[in-house]
Amino acid sequence: MNFLEERILRDGVVKEGNVLKVDSFLNHQMDIALFERMGMEFLRRFQNEKIDKILTIEASGIGIACIAARYFNVPVVFAKKAKSVNLDGETYTAEVESFTHKCKNQVIVSKKFLSAGEHILIIDDFLANGCALQGLISIVKAAGASVDGIGIAIEKGFQMGGSVIRNLGYHLESLAIIESMDAAAGKIVFREQPARSYSSSVEVQCGHRVASSGISDLQ
Ligand code: 5GP
Repeated sequence: MNFLEERILRDGVVKEGNVLKVDSFLNHQMDIALFERMGMEFLRRFQNEKIDKILTIEASGIGIACIAARYFNVPVVFAKKAKSVNLDGETYTAEVESFTHKCKNQVIVSKKFLSAGEHILIIDDFLANGCALQGLISIVKAAGASVDGIGIAIEKGFQMGGSVIRNLGYHLESLAIIESMDAAAGKIVFREQPARSYSSSVEVQCGHRVASSGISDLQ
């Protein structure tokens, strides 16, 4: 069992509806020493990839991405979920269905922060159905950049996101993969992880689309 799996067993709370609460150390209160270990582990797992920039999504991915970025020595860009007067210029947008909030969000990245030819590592806290990731992947593709890695803290392996993303051929690394969890018994079982996992096959729709938009769309 690795350091993150141990922490999940110690402090994670399984809720009804396939939700794991990790707000005491990951996505509300944040344990920075843990994030440092995660950053180091992401660097180890992606050491053979050339990474120019990390892309994440607000809010919970930001802290993890920022600490990881210190190890990769690259900037972090986070996709915003709401239109803002501070978002000026042209943007990429994708529509993403939220697993936890059961609603659709537009996620937005300013075109000036993603460039053609850049090698991108996507980082996020959770992978469930993969909708957030597919939205971010669409934005990277629309920018003409490449997704050279995807690093996830906690993958819920009993939901389809992980297999969809791996089947698309991406280099996806999840530090902890939950095979099953039971709210009534408070039990969590982790998947034994192979060193690396790639494959290629079909593309699955995930309720998002990507579009380029100009300044007028946002104000
Ligand atoms: P997906 O798009 O893969 O279905 O869901 C990923 C997003 O939903 C993550 O960015 C995360 O914020 C949220 N999420 C999904 N499952 C869980 C969960 O079990 N617990 C928490 N805290 N967040 C989750």
